[in-house]
Amino acid sequence: MPSLVCVPIMVEDAASALADAEHARALGADLVEFRIDQAFSGEGDAEGARLAERLAGESPLPCIVTCRPAYEGGYYDGDDAARVSLFERLGALDRPPRYLDAEHVAYTRSANIKQKINLAVEHPGQVRDLHTSLILSHHDFGGRPANLMQTVAAMASEPAAAVLKVAYRARSLRDNLELLELQRERPGGKPMIALGMGEFGLMSRVLAPKFGGFLTFASLRDSSATAPGQPTVAELLARYRFRSISHRTRVFGVVGWPVGHSLSPLVHNAAFEAMGFDGVYLPLPIPPEWEHFKATMLALLDEPHLTFRGCSVTIPHKEHLLRLAREDRSRAWVVDELADRIGAANTLSVGDDGICRVLNTDAAGVVGPLEAALGDLRSVNIAVLGAGGAARAAAFGLAERGANVLLYNRTRDRAEALRDELAQRLSPGAGKIVVGASEAGGGFGRVCESCCGAIVNCTPIGMAGGPSAGASPIDAESLKKVDSSAVVMDTVYRPLETPLLAAARAAGLRSIDGLAMFVAQAVRQSEIFTGGMVEGGRQNAYSGPSGAGSDALTRLFGRICQEAVDSTSDR
Ligand code: NAP
Repeated sequence: MPSLVCVPIMVEDAASALADAEHARALGADLVEFRIDQAFSGEGDAEGARLAERLAGESPLPCIVTCRPAYEGGYYDGDDAARVSLFERLGALDRPPRYLDAEHVAYTRSANIKQKINLAVEHPGQVRDLHTSLILSHHDFGGRPANLMQTVAAMASEPAAAVLKVAYRARSLRDNLELLELQRERPGGKPMIALGMGEFGLMSRVLAPKFGGFLTFASLRDSSATAPGQPTVAELLARYRFRSISHRTRVFGVVGWPVGHSLSPLVHNAAFEAMGFDGVYLPLPIPPEWEHFKATMLALLDEPHLTFRGCSVTIPHKEHLLRLAREDRSRAWVVDELADRIGAANTLSVGDDGICRVLNTDAAGVVGPLEAALGDLRSVNIAVLGAGGAARAAAFGLAERGANVLLYNRTRDRAEALRDELAQRLSPGAGKIVVGASEAGGGFGRVCESCCGAIVNCTPIGMAGGPSAGASPIDAESLKKVDSSAVVMDTVYRPLETPLLAAARAAGLRSIDGLAMFVAQAVRQSEIFTGGMVEGGRQNAYSGPSGAGSDALTRLFGRICQEAVDSTSDR
């Protein structure tokens, strides 16, 4: 049975709750959950009871009615007997709710409560003709319950429970793996809802169809601030293509910290869809420390039913990926020569044979756009600002194409160390890497005295939300000293026109924005992830041989990124 999409609606009044339910239906949801815990106050609340009856009777979609008590994370603070009496009334309606949700802890607290709930729902021992089923649930907002497995087994053993639900705060990506396994196992042969709350829990929600989960919850509107990890219906259905996920679907993602604002899920899922490739791509947040990275990556690779086939790797894990490839002995790793020589990787591709290939597509992300603008890079002097991960890939990639790279960095020692490290690994015909003289205080104005054909900013200066937002590493006056044929490239893409690119425009120079790098490296990654593979062996415009598929992907990614950056430019 396909996994369902359910929209939770916190009920304030009947009209707006029913309007939301209609909206959910129009967006493609299968079910709504009316959370009446703020609308029904308990004993004697006839109005609240009538409201619940009206919602059940008029809902445009099959519904779950839930009155979550405060002791299980909800708002209801009346007594259990009153809400269970309401359940009895709802279960006996001509148009009853499809499901009533009751917490396992309440259900098992007293024989009387259990008996009353059993009277309201259909189950093997039910003598009446009822059409409401029981979802027996357990929630933990702190983290994985210590007695999770015993609780689930106890819930599964209740004959009246038609569906089991566990939801707890996921504290790491690894928590999803156990939740997904519960969905797959269906304890007691019963349909299972097993979801991680919080930003780490997204995987358990999106991958429910892959593991046979009964349903996933998705919000009507962006609730990332109040319910992080809960996708919107639109994200679930359009971005993650929930309806087409099956047990065969390959899983990919972007590993980093933070990854919430990454454009990668947007472009890679769109590429899979355009190519007809059976894959889904998720944000995969892993805290910065090496131990977290190692433990999480190995867990993802080891999970037999996940079909984890690779990831993009971003700050701060690019060097961690290479380290893992070199240290882990539990599987076969192949480090691509370019990644090895650059000393950092941003792509992991896992073959069906389990072999893990580690690659770097960042260098191509800088080289490709600059070659498109300048042609042959041999003997062109290119100034690279910065000496971190982006500068490392840029300097190496450009020197390999024959350019002479001038490295400028705030901390000169770091630039010198990078130069020495990369120089040993360059091919015999490569250009040189030298360290340029920075100004006192770390300014980059003197770059313009170095007769360079291009300047590439690989520092976060100018990045919205970064340490030097609104600033430019070089001002327009200094840029006027540069040869008019020079190109200024920024790797920062929020905002799209950085202060550096605005200064370049004011100085009459050509410019390349940070999306060019992002798109170029992502296109190469997409080709690696899919191997040009299309389900059923069909080729299409995005998977075509030679450069045709790449060009189509470049245009697609460019359009998607542009729209995404434009829509968030004022945030
Ligand atoms: P990183 O490893 O942390 O390196 C940052 C570099 O910038 C270091 O050399 C640092 O100098 C320098 N820096 C930082 N703040 C500075 C400041 N206020 N003034 C002068 N120099 C400063 O970071 P990264 O991975 O290389 O990323 C750098 C930038 O590249 C990011 O902001 C990101 O936007 C961009 N990027 C873009 C893409 C893309 O696809 N478009 C991909 C990767 C990165 P010190 O050595 O003195 O600390």
